Amino acid sequence: MQQIKVCDDRLWNDLMTLGNIGANEKGGVTRTALSDDDQKARLWLIKQMTMLDMDVNVDGAMNVIGRFKAQSPTTDKVLAIGSHIDTVPNGGKFDGAYGVLAGLECIRTLKQQHVSLPFDIEVISFCDEEAAHNAGTVGSRAMMGKLQPEELEKAKTAGARPFLDHLKALGKSLEDVELSVRNPDEFICFMEAHIEQGKILESEMLPIGVVTAIVGVYRYIVTVKGEAAHAGTTPMNMRRDALVEAAPIFTLLPEWTNEQNPEMVGTIGQVTLLPGASNVVPKECRFFVELRSQHPKDMKAVRERLIEYAGQRKDWCVETIYEKDSVLLDDSMIALFRKATEKANLPYMLMPSGAGHDAQSFAPSIPTGMIFIPCEQGISHNPKESISKESAGQGCQVLLNNILLLAESR
Ligand SMILES: [Zn+2]
Repeated sequence: MQQIKVCDDRLWNDLMTLGNIGANEKGGVTRTALSDDDQKARLWLIKQMTMLDMDVNVDGAMNVIGRFKAQSPTTDKVLAIGSHIDTVPNGGKFDGAYGVLAGLECIRTLKQQHVSLPFDIEVISFCDEEAAHNAGTVGSRAMMGKLQPEELEKAKTAGARPFLDHLKALGKSLEDVELSVRNPDEFICFMEAHIEQGKILESEMLPIGVVTAIVGVYRYIVTVKGEAAHAGTTPMNMRRDALVEAAPIFTLLPEWTNEQNPEMVGTIGQVTLLPGASNVVPKECRFFVELRSQHPKDMKAVRERLIEYAGQRKDWCVETIYEKDSVLLDDSMIALFRKATEKANLPYMLMPSGAGHDAQSFAPSIPTGMIFIPCEQGISHNPKESISKESAGQGCQVLLNNILLLAESR
């Protein structure tokens, strides 16, 4: 294999430049999908792609697709590399942006070294991965035909303009979103590089994680009813306090997930008490239960324990919000990423992803692979999100090695 190296400085420079768009004084970045700053970032990216002579197209779902054409391709199929440049409110510089810019740096390197490839490469920045309108991975799901139009009509954040209104302001409609669907046969494979957003790589002191699966997410809302009463005049033995009734589950859930599989996670991240006053015994306790694992059988087992526990009590109700099973990534892509990492002389580990990613939209229909690079203390969705220039370059080198290995094999 030709020894071609990506340029860490160039990649870092891009990350810092893009990170300035939507930046605030405290170091955070706000580029929520379809906001003015998100669009500014999109235009910046298009300019970078154009400077590399890529053919750029913004599809109906506002995905930016830059195509780097092979001089003498032996196939019509394209190798796609993608992630997202939208952020959560007051997020960091690297979540998503890293994967897009690492793809761009691969193209720059290939162009500068005059590497002749047997296939075209697309670098894609997907719209609204971060669920700014309550529907995540919008662009990648739209491309894979997995986005229901009703979802977009409904999708809106409290008080914010709905997704479709934002889209209209940018000259696109629901029909355009539907036109963004592509045939999986157009793709050789899909690759995504991303920051880990967890602490595992850092604690193992490893530069690369090769992702084997993207975990499933089950989400429920549990309501426990009690009776509102005066907090001063109602003796303890005469109360029906909804919080006290609900409380044991807060420690039972971690026990259940741990008993089922120590790798599984269960979270109660939001609890609401009604009426919610310091001098009123709560009449209702409502909370979200979220389960994540790469094994559907573990998810189902803990779900059954929750439903059984609630069923044995009166005034408990469990409502399903969402049940999405894990997605396994393609074995041949995992093997390719391992080989590419070894070629870069980097140690690695195999690991599942605990967070959802655009790769998830592609994995069921296209050979899909993904790598993680470490981020400091695992902090993400936070202005403190941080990676090193060195690890950014290492992940990018693995992507480039992948491209070259694929080219060699054809
Ligand atoms: Zn992301």
